[in-house]
Amino acid sequence: MRFETRAIHAGQSPDPSTGATIPPLYLSSTYTQAAPGKHQGYEYSRSGNPTRANLEESLASLEGGEECATFSSGLAASSALLDTLQPGDGVVASHDLYGGSFRLLDKVFRPLGIEVAFAESAETDAYEQALRHLKRPRLLWLETPTNPLLDIVDIAGVSNLAASNGLLTAVDNTFASPYLQTPIALGADYVVHSTTKYLGGHSDVIGGAVIARTHALLERVRFLQNARGAVPGPLDIYLVQRGIKTLPVRMQRHCENALSLARFLENHSAVRRVIYPGLESHPAHALASRQMHAYGGMLTLELNGGLDAAVAFCSNLHVFSLAESLGGVESLCCHPATMTHASIPKDLREPRGITDGLVRLSVGLEHIEDLTFDLQQALDSTIGAARY
Ligand SMILES: *Cc1c(COP(=O)(O)O)cnc(C)c1O
Repeated sequence: MRFETRAIHAGQSPDPSTGATIPPLYLSSTYTQAAPGKHQGYEYSRSGNPTRANLEESLASLEGGEECATFSSGLAASSALLDTLQPGDGVVASHDLYGGSFRLLDKVFRPLGIEVAFAESAETDAYEQALRHLKRPRLLWLETPTNPLLDIVDIAGVSNLAASNGLLTAVDNTFASPYLQTPIALGADYVVHSTTKYLGGHSDVIGGAVIARTHALLERVRFLQNARGAVPGPLDIYLVQRGIKTLPVRMQRHCENALSLARFLENHSAVRRVIYPGLESHPAHALASRQMHAYGGMLTLELNGGLDAAVAFCSNLHVFSLAESLGGVESLCCHPATMTHASIPKDLREPRGITDGLVRLSVGLEHIEDLTFDLQQALDSTIGAARY
């Protein structure tokens, strides 16, 4: 079945005992046994819960993997996957990584004896270079599009590189969602999600997931899901599952609105550059066109007036809210230099392209005319701010 159909029906069969079209939520923490050890597959909800099993079936189907384990947050999901490594094992990670993932590798797993090397760019060659710094590489960890510079990593290229060295590839697919790209089909072994973002889609729940190409690849992650215990609750799962049903229509509109705003911004004199993989001016536009069905709802711009212009712009938006996070129905604006990436010193940030004039937009589902007008009036105010 096609993606739109699976988004609604995978893991969502009507309840056999009542016919309820929407499967009921199982809030129970425990399950009554007929005799010791005689149960119907569930004993205790940290180890297994029918509502969670439904979401895991749904996500495995959408990503084209054999099995999925869900978690209480995206970082709990990433943690469980990294926890499958042994001290002395090495990870190569993307250069432009989600801040929380960087912190997890650098401040949690490094001290536990995991070696970490960073690819210096989005090029597959950079991953190959980074591999050479590791004594015992095991896993390549990538994000694409990256945050906030929206670089595109060649998933098939990096997965190939990993496979030919006997290594595993994990892709954090949070920015694209499975509607726009399915890394397992391109050769990846694992997909990681913050379901907090596009999958939930309404900025009202925190959650995460690991999807594996094969059952065997998920075995240790499944063990850790129970042993470490960072499982999602049924009410949170319900919100994610509800969001998934409209993922295809939401993503279509996110992409349409973002492309339209990118073109508008490209022609505004207050803007130095617009970064959006759907623009022909994006250096990896051709690669994005090959590996993604469309270009996503994230859009980054750099203002001519630097910090003052960025602060004026962000403060003068009315429809866009100034807030971290992304992927919800409402449009958000973020100033990486002072918000999401403030912990990176300026002399490291600037050469990587995260300048003071950079602004990241999560383009929502409001009417395109209201969004365009909001950007227009906020840009006009920055020109004023620079002039006086
Ligand atoms: C938000 C995010 C995460 C972390 O997810 P949480 O649900 O906040 O723990 C990981 N990767 C990316 C790309 C994200 O945007």
